[in-house]
Formats: sequence, structure tokens, C-alpha cells
Amino acid sequence: HLEIDEVTKTFGRQQVLKGINLHVARGGTTAIVGPSGSGKTTLLRLIAGFEAPDTGQIRLDGRVVAGDTWVPAHRRNVGYVAQDGALFPHLTVGQNIAFGLDKAHGGSRKQIAARVEELLDMVALDGSYAKRRPHQLSGGQQQRIALARAMARRPEVMLLDEPFSALDAGLRVATRRAVAKVLAKAGVTTILVTHDQAEALSFADQVAVMRGGKLAQIGNPFVVYTRPADRATAEFLGDAV
Ligand code: ATP
Repeated sequence: HLEIDEVTKTFGRQQVLKGINLHVARGGTTAIVGPSGSGKTTLLRLIAGFEAPDTGQIRLDGRVVAGDTWVPAHRRNVGYVAQDGALFPHLTVGQNIAFGLDKAHGGSRKQIAARVEELLDMVALDGSYAKRRPHQLSGGQQQRIALARAMARRPEVMLLDEPFSALDAGLRVATRRAVAKVLAKAGVTTILVTHDQAEALSFADQVAVMRGGKLAQIGNPFVVYTRPADRATAEFLGDAV
């Protein structure tokens, strides 16, 4: 599980996170929604270990990774998928997926090839895709490859930063379903940042509404959408539907 306690972060003169408290149960999925600039991506970057909080603490499965001690990103066992997937264009799909697999995580060449095939299968693509290059794939397929790459090291926590927003409506739903299935099956604790209310409702068992660097409300999706904590939250959720 993931525990974030009293986390703050300031860039220059702007306090972007003003004391964030958020707990996500092991295997649970939390959607973070909120206006542009409210600090959603910054929070994900702190969990991933790309930035350090100024104060407060982050724990992964009981282990402090930021706060009293510091665990760098590559030792955190956290996967991250951004909006555009950001595959390496000069590498094949197989090389992209295997990128995070070193001897410790992947084993021999043969074992890595088998793992790549398994990961492709996980995102419902057959083994022949391994030899293709990213530009030969559709946007939805690229996003699935980005997910497969992020899953390669069997992360405990997956951070999804609007991973489906570049896809058209049909592809978005199909990709979202495929991804949700993969994560649920593997029991990965997941945080999804999204502007899409339907996505938050269908994907998450907990919704956190962020505004001005604070969490205005956290709860199960039904409660958040039917009983917003305050007027600004109601207006935000209402506008965005
Ligand atoms: P969006 O929905 O538009 O992606 P967001 O809620 O994810 O927005 P953040 O990307 O976390 O918001 O940004 C929050 C604020 O922090 C913004 O005002 C942004 O300009 C500022 N910010 C983020 N990263 C940095 C940085 N490295 N240096 C300075 N300011 C930053």
C-alpha cells in the first residue's frame, strides 16, 4: 500500500502541494481529478521519486521512501506511464519493453525474450509486435506497450498520468479496459490522474479531488459525485461531466 502524509512541495515562490494526505490500499485504485495546475502531476512525480517533498513522508508497503530517508526512483519499484507513453522511437517494441529489465530483473537473453512475450500477451498483443517500431503502431497500441514496459519490473505501484487522453473515444475505452484488467490481475496499487469523469468512475475505487495543492475531498466515487464536499468541488465535477 501507499501512504502519503503531510506532503508539501514548493517551486520558487509557489507552494504547489500544501499538505497532502492520501492512502491507497494494496491493489486499490485511486483516481485524482482536479483543475489544471492543482498539483496532480507534481504529486505523481514525488511518489515516483523524480522530485523530493519539502516536508512530509511517503511510504510504500511500510517502507519510507521520502521523508526521514530517501530512496531514489530506480529503487522504488514504481511504474509510471505518461500521456504520450513516450516510447523510444529508435528501439523496437521488444527493446522498449525490455529496457528496464537488467540481469537482476530479467535473467538471460532467452528469459528476457520470454518475459517480453508474456508482457505483450498481458496487453493483448501477439509476439510479432516485438519486432515492430513504435511509429508502426496505433496510439492505443503504443499506450499498451508503454504499460507493458512499466509492468516489466513487476511494480508494486503504478502511476498513470492521463495515459488515455490522446486516444479517440472508442480506443480510449478499449485501452482503458485492457489496462484495468492487467493491473487488477497483477494486484498493482494504482493512481490514475485524469480529466475524464467517466474514466475516474469506471476505473477507481477511490476518487481524490485536488484543488490548489490540497485534496478537497477523498471518497468512493459514488459519494464524491453525489455528495461533493463543498461548492467549488460540486462546480468542478459538474462542469467536467
Ligand atoms: P494539469 O492538469 O494541467 O496537468 P496538474 O494538476 O498536473 O495540471 P502540475 O503539473 O502538478 O499540475 O503543476 C502544478 C503547478 O506547479 C503549476 O503551476 C506548475 O507550473 C508548477 N510546476 C510544476 N513543476 C514545476 C517545476 N519543475 N518548476 C516550477 N514550477 C513547476
